[in-house]
Amino acid sequence: MIVVLEKNITDAQLKNIVKHLEDSGFAVHKSSGEERTILGAIGVQPNFDTRKIKILEGVEEVYRITEPFKLASRSFKPNDTIIKIKDVEIGANEIIVIAGPCSVENEEQIMKVAEIVKKSGAKILRGGAFKPRTSPYSFQGLGEKGLILLRQAADEFGLLVVTEVLENSMIDLIAKYTDIFQVGARNMQNYSLLKELGSVNKPVMLKRGLAATVEDWLMSAEYILSNGNPDVFLCERGIRTFETYTRNTFDISAIPVVHKRSHLPIIADPSHATGLRDKVIPMARAAVAAGADGLMVEVHHDPDKALSDGPQALLPHQFEDMMKQVKMIANVIGRKM
Ligand code: PEP
Ligand code: MN
Repeated sequence: MIVVLEKNITDAQLKNIVKHLEDSGFAVHKSSGEERTILGAIGVQPNFDTRKIKILEGVEEVYRITEPFKLASRSFKPNDTIIKIKDVEIGANEIIVIAGPCSVENEEQIMKVAEIVKKSGAKILRGGAFKPRTSPYSFQGLGEKGLILLRQAADEFGLLVVTEVLENSMIDLIAKYTDIFQVGARNMQNYSLLKELGSVNKPVMLKRGLAATVEDWLMSAEYILSNGNPDVFLCERGIRTFETYTRNTFDISAIPVVHKRSHLPIIADPSHATGLRDKVIPMARAAVAAGADGLMVEVHHDPDKALSDGPQALLPHQFEDMMKQVKMIANVIGRKM
């Protein structure tokens, strides 16, 4: 941590600052320039609140050098994390595609969509059985019935399953059917859920919160990691901005930013990021070009009749096109698909 002191600091103020730092366990190194003096405080704990120093008289600014997350950081673990689930690896050279409807609606729908996405090369089937809807009057999902249908469709076509867990009390039930737990944007800071998912023995896909910084997001991953589950990957799904022509704003830069700061895999969800079918393929291409370890996209065989998110679902032939296009981009950057 670097503490920049005010130009006209008094000796008494300086003494007080140094005492505070030493009492907090820091080794303090003073460096005086012509204009001003700075203090280097070595040994910052991840949970240290830098405001404790910022508010002292004579302090102009405090800069943190180390990150507040540890287990999630690249400096703690330099090598990329690779999550193995059966014969699928997330975070390795191959780009993994997760596809399926927003919600599981009925047997015919999930079977049709599973067949379509498998044929074009998806490895993981998605579909919500418990849906976090903005409106309580919107379709809330089929519940356990949806989980049964999702598992059945995935098994029929040799796919893995990812589905969302909304609350702690659902974990055991969902664990019976899923290969990966999805934590949705609205739950990214549900710390009690994150802690509980630290003790499950299945991977967790942590979506970015609607207004979360990358640091907030990695701190949420830290909750799962520090409670014992090392298999966490992130999913960029767009953030809230002032822009209204898309549902959210797709933060593609989060992909290289996360890769630099963290060893955890990161995939991209261009469906929720843009909210509009015709924007999904270009953003899928961009995500792969930016280094995403995978994609998650919504696909529906009859999106006009979808019970949720129809306007952002790709039609079957569009999904096929997307797979062909992103494969070419993957090859250009030396990745397999
Ligand atoms: C979803 O993927 O089904 C979903 C609800 O997305 P998000 O949490 O990103 O809104
Ligand atoms: Mn959706």
